Amino acid sequence: MNDIQITAFGATDYVGKSSFLLSDKDHKILLDCGIELVPKGLSKAPKGVDEIAKSLNAFFLSHAHIDHSGYVPRLAKEGYKGFYYMTHPTKDIAYTLWRDHLKIEGRRHWSERDLDVVYNKIKTTHYHKKIKIADGITAEFLNAGHVLGAAQILIDWEGTLILYTGDINDRVTPMFDGYELPEEKIDVLITESTNGDRYVPERKKIDVGLRLLAKQTAETGNKMILPSFAVGRSQEILITLALDNDLDEIPIYMDGMINKMNMITEHYLSEKWVSKRFLDQLKEAKMHSPFEKSNFIPIYEVSERTQYARKLISSSDKGCIIVTTSGMLEGGPIHTYLDLCGSNEDDVLGFSGYQVLGTTGREIFDGKKELTIQSETGKKKKIELKNQIMKFPYSGHSSVDGLKRIMKETHAQDIILIHGDKRNQEYILNYVKDIAHPRVLKEEIPTSLMSV
Ligand SMILES: [Zn+2]
Repeated sequence: MNDIQITAFGATDYVGKSSFLLSDKDHKILLDCGIELVPKGLSKAPKGVDEIAKSLNAFFLSHAHIDHSGYVPRLAKEGYKGFYYMTHPTKDIAYTLWRDHLKIEGRRHWSERDLDVVYNKIKTTHYHKKIKIADGITAEFLNAGHVLGAAQILIDWEGTLILYTGDINDRVTPMFDGYELPEEKIDVLITESTNGDRYVPERKKIDVGLRLLAKQTAETGNKMILPSFAVGRSQEILITLALDNDLDEIPIYMDGMINKMNMITEHYLSEKWVSKRFLDQLKEAKMHSPFEKSNFIPIYEVSERTQYARKLISSSDKGCIIVTTSGMLEGGPIHTYLDLCGSNEDDVLGFSGYQVLGTTGREIFDGKKELTIQSETGKKKKIELKNQIMKFPYSGHSSVDGLKRIMKETHAQDIILIHGDKRNQEYILNYVKDIAHPRVLKEEIPTSLMSV
């Protein structure tokens, strides 16, 4: 039996720069290659990837989020000549995020040229298609229920079955019915552990609250501003609002990169990528796309007139809902809306995602009122935030029960926890001790997978 090893280049007991190498004496496969975003600072690269890039046999990307994908073009720069495997939607979303990353950080990690090389070497695939990597080694994608195109990666390494979850969600969300379990028993499970100690309410319950408050706020002539992650959460929120006919008379503005992501999502509204339940809901509501209702208004970043449109929206007496980026309020059009509407005591600022420590979003979430933002003229400005703050506990990650379920139902004998903070992982270790004994990894130190 071959000794298969795993080396983590990031995302061991924290979230950021996910990248994991599986290797034996003859083969090297890299799973994900992300960066770690640093609030108000420059992103961090996964340490150790540069050295092994040239010797890789294959690269697989679980999904497009930048903490999994942001360093991928660097592989080309370092001499990797092989293919980049990912699902079709992941390719489209990742390419948009890569272009955006160049605008934000320039060529710190990789250049346009590297991105071009990668783009030409991407092999797109559907879920459940076996890809041969070498004699005796295959890989396939399984639905992760996380964001559009997100996949778990199932690897058959000469009879040893290894499941890398990437990011998974067990909850039913507007477009997905939760993560998929492999049909076979698994030997090694490498699982995310983001929500190890956080209770994740069912989506339906949060949706009811969001719709009611949105209606109430807009009908009394006020604004509900929902800063959201461009990939995933924005579409989920917009779909939730679109499927409520009570909101049909209320203008719903969509601002920032959300619009590009909506277009990509529309392209993949088929059973191959989203749940049948969701497609049936659309059919029943006679909608081609949830983002094309007559009260849904996209704001495109085209010219100086874009800022004028935002001013008009903000100064209007008519109530409305604004879904905009960025999700952690680090930049983007949300700053313009904070500048223009932040002093309105009756407007609502609604959080719909986890806020990382050190971000402007987290500061507001924790009660800070004095903020420095980028004003609508582009200059830094201090404001006092007077909006009502609401918190909607959405999460794109599996609840702790969902993590327990995947550990139990895959029957894995070797379970490795990644992508979660130490406290979460300690909680999980305790929570599952009757069924499993997961372990954690040390960064950059190759560790053997349990031989079976
Ligand atoms: Zn993710």
